[in-house]
Amino acid sequence: MISRIDLRGNPADPRDTLPRAELDVAAAVETVRPICEDVRHRGTQALIELGERFDGVRLSRIRVPRTAVEEALTGLAPTVRAALEESIRRARLVHRDQRRTDSTTRVVPGGTVTERWVPVDRVGLYVPGGRAVYPSSVVMNVVPAQEAGVPSLAVASPPQAEFGGLPHPTILAACALLGVDEVYAVGGAQAVAMFAYGTDECARADLVTGPGNVWVAAAKRLLKGVIGIDSEAGPTEIAVLADDTADPGHVAADLISQAEHDVIAASVLVTPSTKLAAQVEAELTVRVPATKHAERVAEALGGRQSGIVLVDDIDHGLAVVNAYAAEHLEVITADARVVAARVRNAGAIFVGAFSPVSLGDYCAGSNHVLPTGGCACHSSGLSVQSFLRGIHVVDYDRAALAEVAHHVVALAEAEDLPAHGEAVTARIPLEEQA
Ligand code: NAD
Repeated sequence: MISRIDLRGNPADPRDTLPRAELDVAAAVETVRPICEDVRHRGTQALIELGERFDGVRLSRIRVPRTAVEEALTGLAPTVRAALEESIRRARLVHRDQRRTDSTTRVVPGGTVTERWVPVDRVGLYVPGGRAVYPSSVVMNVVPAQEAGVPSLAVASPPQAEFGGLPHPTILAACALLGVDEVYAVGGAQAVAMFAYGTDECARADLVTGPGNVWVAAAKRLLKGVIGIDSEAGPTEIAVLADDTADPGHVAADLISQAEHDVIAASVLVTPSTKLAAQVEAELTVRVPATKHAERVAEALGGRQSGIVLVDDIDHGLAVVNAYAAEHLEVITADARVVAARVRNAGAIFVGAFSPVSLGDYCAGSNHVLPTGGCACHSSGLSVQSFLRGIHVVDYDRAALAEVAHHVVALAEAEDLPAHGEAVTARIPLEEQA
């Protein structure tokens, strides 16, 4: 069901041998290019036709009526409502603490540089809804944007044929709980294009965030620059670094929980223990057929992106997980906090036996929109910071400029850009420059 990759005694860079989806975002970019161009030129009409083609439902309009958002909340099961409210409460606690304060540095008397943090004016938040529906992604997108102070927020999520072309009612209810009433029934690449170019119904946004499948990730890559993006948060991945102290039932359950997302989701166990590897394989044999989405899970675990990686010891395991840069990394070892502190590359780290990824998916307070595909070596998950820009405010008086004028002139000459120096000399004559 799940393959083994034996890296024991192999100190070489593991990147090429580690399991990874052959997720060709670059190829998908070519698929989504005409979709995005169509939205750019034909706006709402293109969105309606693309919804029919990809989501199997023809809409007369894309914007979800406010009343439908409110009604969804009325119909929400009380247990789900309570869970969403707790998820929102915890996410707010964490994201509120991420807020930035402006900093002013007095470089010289009369010369200051301030970094002023300003939220983007308008964001488009993507909430996936193809194979599974993700009301939790509404929370993970909206809370940091609100805590950052973004004044205009819009959510897009695929239309669902069984709900008359509206996004899933739980997604609408989550929007209502968060006070978001601008919602569009648009999925996939076309949603990213709608936010990037704007249409007669939806004003263009400055930034689009949120997870999605390969077409969403490809559209973000294609339109980056036309619109700001967060990370390419694509098909999900879990890596578990575990030793003999881990409960094999826990490890197997966690590998299955990620595999449930998508047939190309990746579940990887990295362990120096052949005993644990065998126990986890045995657990998977029992648990996979019993789980609701057994077929999807079996395909994901059996895919080339998943596997059990045998390593020499925990140090070797750390080298492997750092090279892999998983979206989610669980550390279930002796001294898990010490081992976790040595991890450099991961979207989020889950420490010890009682911090499973699904806690982070819903209710830890952390954000679940995280970089995938190895992007965690250079990108972060969604946070308040994702919605802010740091603007440098330079404020020098005459004396402060005079003090440094000769250095500006020297550097301008070194770069053969004399007009740069002349802009300073126009203010501070050469005879006054040091
Ligand atoms: P989705 O909303 O991302 O995609 C559905 C849309 O894909 C459809 O509306 C359709 O427009 C488009 N589409 C479908 N087939 C297409 C095709 N052949 N060509 C072009 N467009 C097409 O929903 P999903 O498919 O369920 O995927 C959700 C993904 O989000 C999963 O892979 C899951 O792992 C991932 N996810 C990631 C994170 C993260 O933080 N990285 C969090 C949650 C979910």
